[in-house]
Amino acid sequence: MFSRLLDTVNLRNLSWLTIGQYLTTALVPPRCLLCDGPGQRGNELWGLDLCHWCEAACPPAGEPQRGVAELAAPAVALDGVRALFLYDDPVDRLITGLKFRGDLAGARVLGTLLARRLLAQGFRLPQVLVPLPLHAARYRERGFNQAAVIAAHVASRTGVPVDSSLLRRVRATAPQTTLSAAERRRNCEGAFSIVPGRHVPGRIALLDDVMTTGSTAAAAAGALREAGARHVELWVCAVASLGTSR
Ligand SMILES: [Zn+2]
Repeated sequence: MFSRLLDTVNLRNLSWLTIGQYLTTALVPPRCLLCDGPGQRGNELWGLDLCHWCEAACPPAGEPQRGVAELAAPAVALDGVRALFLYDDPVDRLITGLKFRGDLAGARVLGTLLARRLLAQGFRLPQVLVPLPLHAARYRERGFNQAAVIAAHVASRTGVPVDSSLLRRVRATAPQTTLSAAERRRNCEGAFSIVPGRHVPGRIALLDDVMTTGSTAAAAAGALREAGARHVELWVCAVASLGTSR
């Protein structure tokens, strides 16, 4: 009798992920953060809070259209940049919602998409993910580091551990919006240091929400290299053109 019931609802063909997803999405169905329509189930336990249409409207950073673009490194300290989207509508709404309104669901969407696409493309994974730290004053003002929250979601899906305490921002940098690329580089020099006594792995991916000139990430990569890292790449959710603040 019970076995006939199982056959009727076809439970035998369901994986634990699918069963868990039926339960979680029945309790809290995924909703699109951008248009409030139904989100996607995908292969995530809680689904993805972004609909197919809004995902398709997010402008890719380059080729492939539905993947992570490999961009030229903006400085010698960086071995490469992997970028998901352009910082343009509607991606900017996800990122400003996260940074300025504390909408952490945006970090989950961005982290999930970045991880999904990196894994799908089969990139060689680093030993550790290091979110770009905020200066203490900015951290106190915002209450969280958006890069660290995104990194936690990328880590849980890729299996690469996050180290948020290896690198620290020792100097607050002036707002970069009005600076030229050369001024931004000077502005970021000496802004990062390694926490004394910490072992620095050889292969590291820095993670940030938005890259503009890459001067902030380059300064962080320089500090990691001086401390022994051999390969430092940057993963970003979006690349912005000059003139956009980060
Ligand atoms: Zn939508």
